[in-house]
Formats: sequence, structure tokens, C-alpha cells
Amino acid sequence: MKKFLAMMMALAMVLALAACGNNGGEASVSGSGDVSGEIAVTYTTANEGKLTMATNAAFPPYEYVEGGKIVGIDAEIAGAIAEKLGLELQIDDMEFDSIIEAVKGGKADIGLAGMTVTDERKEAVDFTASYATGVQVVIVTEDSAITSVDDLFAEGANTTIGVQRNTTGDLYTTWDIQDEGLGKVDRYSKGADAVQALKTGKVDCVVIDNEPAKAFVNAIEGLKILDTEYAVEDYAGAMSKDNTALYEAVNAALEELIADGTVKAIVDKYIPAE
Ligand code: GLN
Repeated sequence: MKKFLAMMMALAMVLALAACGNNGGEASVSGSGDVSGEIAVTYTTANEGKLTMATNAAFPPYEYVEGGKIVGIDAEIAGAIAEKLGLELQIDDMEFDSIIEAVKGGKADIGLAGMTVTDERKEAVDFTASYATGVQVVIVTEDSAITSVDDLFAEGANTTIGVQRNTTGDLYTTWDIQDEGLGKVDRYSKGADAVQALKTGKVDCVVIDNEPAKAFVNAIEGLKILDTEYAVEDYAGAMSKDNTALYEAVNAALEELIADGTVKAIVDKYIPAE
């Protein structure tokens, strides 16, 4: 049954590709991939023979630089997807803010950056299956008067919040706190810079994803993460809406890696169970 479905999908894609002619005349290159010998389709990638991943390598343990190399959960998942598709993985490091544009413009094949699925982003890109859960948490100094997330919403609150620009931490606190007159949001290009601003007293707290939060708090003394969660979200890969064949191939590969436990093993390697 699965095989039949896969063949039908492959046939549908071949027909769709034939209908598209030469992909609108764009300067794109072709590759073909084989997922577990079941789905053989033709698709184009940003760079010939490569799966190009756009990320912001300042988000441990999902992506960070170690020994001059970008490593982490997302890098390993992308490596496993590339391997399944017979492609070489190339990782392009950029501002978090630029990832969706790179994917939309066809410069990168997939944005993997601990990126949260949101309705706004869905208007710009297609998301793959979700491969992890993220939690927005609040980092404060150990002696902070802020003791729970509720304090940020208390009447008369006036909190300066540090965030990484255009992340969900930025979006939520802008809507919930700044726009409601409960404080202001200071935006930094790196999460680590926001945390440094907290350490030096420029902001009262930082709202950021839980895993990088743990890494930052472990590295800098005098900071802690509040027990209460700000928001729970899903991480997924961002892909172009215009490259359906590649989307199908990458997503099928990712779903197999989720189903066979590979993704869980990668996550567990970087995030030991508590
Ligand atoms: N999960 C957050 C978001 O998608 C932050 C991701 C990041 O900073 N790499 O906005």
C-alpha cells in the first residue's frame, strides 16, 4: 500500500514537473533522490548535488560552532536528510532574520534553526513535519524581583525585555507586553548578546528558547531560568513554497528519520534526559 502510494506520488510529481517545463527558466540545477528505494523523483536544489541549509549558528545545542565547524541537532538532522537523498550537506550561516528570505529566494533549500512554526511564517514558507518542541522561557538575574511569568503581566509592570530580533520571543513580548504598555522590548541580533545585556543590567529579563537559555545560563554566573513557561512551540524546517518536489523528498526523508528513531537519538545526544 505504502509502495503504491509512493509510486502514485512519484508519477504525480513527474506529471507536475512536465507541466512546469523547465522550472520557469530559472537558473536551477537538477538532482534526483531516492528515499529508501521507494520514492524516486526529480527535484532541483539551490546548489548542484547539495542540500543547502540556512541557519544561525548561535543557538546551542541546535546549531553552534565547535572547532570551526557548525554542529548541533539541526546540523545532524540535515546531514541525515542529505545522506538519504544522496546529497552533500552545505550549511550557510546567517542572521536568524535572513533565513526565511534565503529559503524563499531559492538560495537555500531548507531553513533549520530551531525555528518555530507560526501562522505568519506559514504565509512565507512551507514547514516540514515538526521534529522537536521548544519552550519560550524567561531568564533573570538570581536576585531579580521577577519571580514568575505572571509578574510580566501584572498591572503597572514596566519591564525591559531582551530578545533576539524577529524570534518568537521578540514577537510574543512585543504583542503581549510592549503593545500593552507593560514595558519595552530591546532587540539583539544574537541571543547571547541579549543575555549579556541582562548580565550588565541593561534589560530586566530575556525571553528565549529553553535549550539555548540553559546553555547561556550555565556559561554565565548569577543568572537563572524561571520555572514557569512563557510559551510552548513546535520546531520545523522552513522550505520554499515553489519547490514542491524538493519539499516532498525532504519531508519524506525527515518523516522516515522521525519514525525510525534517528531524530530522537540525535536530540538525546545533545539534550540528555533530565
Ligand atoms: N524558536 C525561535 C523562533 O523560531 C528562535 C529560533 C532561533 O533563534 N534560532 O523564533
